[in-house]
Amino acid sequence: MTKSNENSALGERVVNAVSGVVSAPCGLHEPTLKGNEWAYVKECLDSGWVSTAGEYVGRFEEQLKEITGAEFAIATATGTAALHMTLVCAGIGRGDEVMIPALTFVATANAVSYTGAIPHFADVSARTLGIDVAKLEDYLSATFRQTDRGVENIQTGRPLRAVIAMHTYGHACDLDELAELCDRWRLVLIEDAAESLGSFYKGQHTGNHGAMAALSFNGNKIATAGAGGAILTHDADIAAHAQHLTTTAKVPHAYEFVHDEVGYNYRLPNLNAALGCAQLDQLPEMLVRKRRLAEAYEKAFSPVSGVGFFSEPEHCKSNYWLNVILLDSKIADQRDTVLKALNDAKLGSRPAWMPMHRLAMYADCPKMDLSVTEDLYDRLICLPSSAQN
Ligand SMILES: *Cc1c(COP(=O)(O)O)cnc(C)c1O
Repeated sequence: MTKSNENSALGERVVNAVSGVVSAPCGLHEPTLKGNEWAYVKECLDSGWVSTAGEYVGRFEEQLKEITGAEFAIATATGTAALHMTLVCAGIGRGDEVMIPALTFVATANAVSYTGAIPHFADVSARTLGIDVAKLEDYLSATFRQTDRGVENIQTGRPLRAVIAMHTYGHACDLDELAELCDRWRLVLIEDAAESLGSFYKGQHTGNHGAMAALSFNGNKIATAGAGGAILTHDADIAAHAQHLTTTAKVPHAYEFVHDEVGYNYRLPNLNAALGCAQLDQLPEMLVRKRRLAEAYEKAFSPVSGVGFFSEPEHCKSNYWLNVILLDSKIADQRDTVLKALNDAKLGSRPAWMPMHRLAMYADCPKMDLSVTEDLYDRLICLPSSAQN
């Protein structure tokens, strides 16, 4: 066989495996709107409560507390806004550094930038797709020193204040090890749980292992509010501050407008909360469907040589938000041929995000060796993963 024949043969084998599981045309991830979405949204419109006051916001927050086990949940306009607020609540600001995985959606790095802090990129583990904790520990020991003022970057002199863990495609990273490391180094642990609603780590819902977590209800997530997010925490003071900050820091008063710090207009509108509530009602069923889909993919790919299905790590019960295959390293150069074949067959598929340190605005940020991130980016493909499949 010539090289190009081999390539098209691989593309064809992957398209065949995916076609055996889902039907074209289908996108990467489409919302499942089969519950009370119409009824709840109509109720908002009928009552006139469409904006930031109204009963669905509170109901949405109650549902999130129940699902995640977090003591407090504060709904926000987007997941990025939620993430931004977790950093502000942690007191992160200009000149600080925040460690984040290089393999993540750009919102993680952007939220750090909004505070004036600098993202510092950590490598990920091929086993979890999240931060490699052992590698991070070695790097911290080599690059930072503990001082009275906190952890200081030996090269830049800047303080490292926090670590953001991200649960990639719904798979929980090594949270126990990371929480323990953050404890020892006195770093704030924040979870970017935007992709992991319904994912559990050792029996506990993700988003409960650090000081705070952020969820997302963007249109492509497992549950959507059109757009939306939430901050989770177990700390009453943080919850009160987050609530205050997201509502323009307005001091409660019957008619006066007084604001006591620079706040944000980040509150989730009732209209979006109504949609979100209807989605959360269906979450248990969606999680069952997602696992069924993942099982079907795993089976479909087991006879496809050179291609591996990514299964949840041992400690994790994943929501399988996006299903992932990895090409063997020796055929990584065929990733784009496979992506083209899938998308030509109207099977919406994507590579991993371009790693953060390769984006123009983050190219000069500090980073450790990122060889695993680079390797995964070269050979990872996300497959159509909607719950209705
Ligand atoms: C979706 C997502 C967010 C937040 O996105 P929004 O669109 O602002 O809700 C943040 N981090 C990650 C990793 C995400 O996937």
